[in-house]
Amino acid sequence: MTERSMHEATGGTAPVVVIGAGPVGLAAAAHLYERGLDFLVIEAGTQTGASVAQWGHVRLFSPWRYNIDAAARRHLEDAGWSAPDQDWLPTGSELIEEYLTPLAKLFGDRIRLGETVTAISRLGFDRVRTSGRDEAPFVLRLSSGEEIRAAAIIDASGTYRTPGPLGAFGLAAYGEAEAAPFVDHALPDVLGVDRETYEGRHTLVVGAGHSAATTLLALAELAETRVTWAIRAADASRTYGGGEADALPARGALGTHLRAHVEAGRIALATGFFTQAVTTSGDQATVVSRDPAGQEQLITADRIVVATGYRPDHSIASELRLDNDPILGSTRALAPLIDPNEHSCGTVPAHGVDELSHPEPGYYTVGVKSYGRAPTFLLATGYEQVRSVVAALAGDWEAARDVQLDLPETGVCSANLVSAQEQRVEEAKPESGCCG
Ligand SMILES: Cc1cc2nc3c(=O)[nH]c(=O)nc-3n(C[C@H](O)[C@H](O)[C@H](O)COP(=O)(O)OP(=O)(O)OC[C@H]3O[C@@H](n4cnc5c(N)ncnc54)[C@H](O)[C@@H]3O)c2cc1C
Repeated sequence: MTERSMHEATGGTAPVVVIGAGPVGLAAAAHLYERGLDFLVIEAGTQTGASVAQWGHVRLFSPWRYNIDAAARRHLEDAGWSAPDQDWLPTGSELIEEYLTPLAKLFGDRIRLGETVTAISRLGFDRVRTSGRDEAPFVLRLSSGEEIRAAAIIDASGTYRTPGPLGAFGLAAYGEAEAAPFVDHALPDVLGVDRETYEGRHTLVVGAGHSAATTLLALAELAETRVTWAIRAADASRTYGGGEADALPARGALGTHLRAHVEAGRIALATGFFTQAVTTSGDQATVVSRDPAGQEQLITADRIVVATGYRPDHSIASELRLDNDPILGSTRALAPLIDPNEHSCGTVPAHGVDELSHPEPGYYTVGVKSYGRAPTFLLATGYEQVRSVVAALAGDWEAARDVQLDLPETGVCSANLVSAQEQRVEEAKPESGCCG
């Protein structure tokens, strides 16, 4: 397609459809509103920020200054809203109550709740047919049975609804389905509504990301509660992170506090743990690890929390021409910028419509879903993504390509995590580390 607006391409008769009313979907709506483009937001949950509500008890590690989209702020302030204290770290619930809900109210019936997008294609075209494809509007099937049309689609449907499995090789552990009553996926409200489930019991937390760290710290606060933490790695330095070097102190503190609990023996750490199977007996579950060398470890616990990350679900778009990275499931152009095999510094170069485009013109994956399985997504990244994509949809390619992003670093690079010998080799290089 030539570089014109998507509305021109499809005759401008259908709205831009945004999938998901999370923080990034609503930011997209704010930019579409500001650009004067017709839009509709389809949200599967019964409230805006439905996935954030699942972890509403968790305090974000980024303060308000990073969590509010610029176009959303302008629109809200025009309506008389005052921004919360820029340095305050809101909980997920506060993010919804103080920002997402007032924002969504401004869009009225342009947000439809309780409707899941189940499939997407192009009107009159399956994935194979080419001639005239770019001019055809999209069709979206909804869970209500309705079929709607779209001039373009901004897919901000997140990854929270598709968590990773307990099994270590990305596959479900043997017995995982049968053990489901013993398992919670991150992040249970350990100090709130789920307290009774965890207090006085032994919980095994599997996973090495922020969700695992957050859950472990909450468990460590409970009285007479045994906590075991299992990770695949040989040590936990990646989870401990950059500590005081982290530009977001709350994110750095997560790892620092976790390390203190492990060193004090409050949390038992099992390294080299590759979950293979889980069995249950009475009130307990036994998780079996078998590492690649065949070495076994067994941990018996009352509860298991699986915090092995999240995955993008591209199945709704399987009739579109997607070009996803085979490792991460992000767009191909974005992958080298965020691959956790290479990067852990929390920064990503500014990127926008060009990195988020697929061979299917007019379909963009944004927000945490755009990162696929990469774990370092921040809201500020998503806000710049949708600013750029919406500018392109409006035909303002200059603004679309003028991408700017200033993200707080984690204070730790992948290069800091290699062995001492490799570290010396890295240090001998003029520019070491992925943040350089
Ligand atoms: C515990 C936790 C803490 C985090 N803390 C921070 C932080 O401090 N700072 C930060 O910058 N980032 C943080 N993140 C990362 C990230 O910013 C959040 O995950 C954020 O919610 C991503 O926003 P999103 O709009 O892309 O996706 P989501 O918030 O996941 O929203 C997606 C929406 O799409 C809806 N949906 C899904 N499928 C469909 C469908 N088929 N049809 C219609 N609707 C659908 C969902 O119901 C959901 O409402 C955190 C993430 C987690 C999990």
